[in-house]
Amino acid sequence: SNKIEAGWNLDNSYARLPQTFYSKLNPTPVRLPKLIVINRSLAKDLGLNDKALEGEEGVAIFAGNQLPKGAEPLAQAYAGHQFGHFNMLGDGRAILLGEQITPDGEQVDIQLKGSGRTPFSRGGDGRAGLGPMLREYIISEAMHALGIATTRSLAVVTTGESVYRETEQPGAIMTRVAASHIRVGTFQYAAHWGKDDDLQALADYTLQRHFPDVKAGENDNPYLLLLQGVIKRQADLIAKWQLVGFIHGVMNTDNMAISGETIDYGPCAFMDVYDPATVFSSIDRQGRYAYGNQPYIGSWNLSRFAETLLPLLHEKQEQAVELAQDALSEFSKLYRSNWLKGMRAKLGLFNEEEEDEALIEDLLSMMQKHRADYTNTFRALTVNEQEDLDLFHSPEFAEWQERWQKRRGRQEETKASSEQLMKNNNPGVIPRNHRVEDALEAAVESEDFSVMERLLEALSNPFSYTSEKSDYCKLPAPSNRP
Ligand code: AMP
Ligand code: MG
Ligand code: MG
Repeated sequence: SNKIEAGWNLDNSYARLPQTFYSKLNPTPVRLPKLIVINRSLAKDLGLNDKALEGEEGVAIFAGNQLPKGAEPLAQAYAGHQFGHFNMLGDGRAILLGEQITPDGEQVDIQLKGSGRTPFSRGGDGRAGLGPMLREYIISEAMHALGIATTRSLAVVTTGESVYRETEQPGAIMTRVAASHIRVGTFQYAAHWGKDDDLQALADYTLQRHFPDVKAGENDNPYLLLLQGVIKRQADLIAKWQLVGFIHGVMNTDNMAISGETIDYGPCAFMDVYDPATVFSSIDRQGRYAYGNQPYIGSWNLSRFAETLLPLLHEKQEQAVELAQDALSEFSKLYRSNWLKGMRAKLGLFNEEEEDEALIEDLLSMMQKHRADYTNTFRALTVNEQEDLDLFHSPEFAEWQERWQKRRGRQEETKASSEQLMKNNNPGVIPRNHRVEDALEAAVESEDFSVMERLLEALSNPFSYTSEKSDYCKLPAPSNRP
């Protein structure tokens, strides 16, 4: 036949871990698969042929009706602290097909989300709605374009079946691509329910997969290096979230990936008005996962991770605890230094001065007081177009601006390179919630995917200032604000 090969090249290393860590099963077939969106540039990076993927067989694979060559499907077991409460969880509506080996030699998970019930489904239906799957597709791809480590989205298909949440919705399945789906919760699961050497098997596997430079045996304590490596990646990741105003919304320990990628886009959103107390998730009544609390929660989750590693860190409990505490105490320093570095770049500053922290904090307090939009404030400072925000008309801002200009004058770099630094660090276009909602409404209510396609196009180039008057910078109408 002259059928084009899709290019699936799957390994199944997770399936070679001890049995404790998964349950082998196939996705549940669906009635009528239909391709809604496919990520061509990601397909290419994965060594997949997009023409084959959008053909009948390709779509059947995205729907779970057929398996790609070499797949050994499984649902992963994990636990997690959800809003502080420890639970046994696991993939209740997802199936790992295997790990695609890319032309660059990377190994990435190919997971179907919304693919039917599993032994971990508890009361759930194992399915997902089109709105939430497209939401994850849009926001994860926006995060990627912003240069933030994240799981990716290869495709979304509808199933021809309905799901019932608050309302009836078209059912959908998203194909998620991730460095891995190993979570803090996976280690919690191993520590609580693993037997014999399960925990160590997971730790060794994780080292091999995500920290290949750490060779067990050669270094004194590879598990301490694992802990330190994960802490460093999270300090980097969460600083990047804060710098663009991203609110994850459900930072449960099962939603923190060991790889350092952002994972699980549920009630996440980008902040409009700057306010550290901003919460988007309606179920987060205490503000546990508020914008300003994210670094603290990151550190809380990492403490839970460290606890699981104690038996591997040292044979004496007391010394293991000391090693863990020393490693954990680095988080806030690393986080703060990443954040400051990023904030300096947002203000066009190359070098470091003692007063920078005050300069940054003073701007943020003014933004909060004047209810200034976070993204648009930095965008306006970048292009020096300050007329439309109240903040810019206040006398205290005039004073601050003079300090800032003097500060910029005290560095060797030219004004032009300082402006370029700002353009590279202050996105003009972010997935504002009202725009995401418009795109989802058109898609779900009217099968009109053009709104989403235009939004995805704009989001793929967030640092481009060529279309700076673009609609996508506009704030929601007052009636549409949270
Ligand atoms: P999340 O809040 O998305 O991190 O999900 C928490 C847990 O609930 C995970 O174990 C999910 O697999 C599970 N889950 C979420 N939605 C469903 C569903 N519709 N059916 C079965 N399990 C689900
Ligand atoms: Mg989750
Ligand atoms: Mg979720």
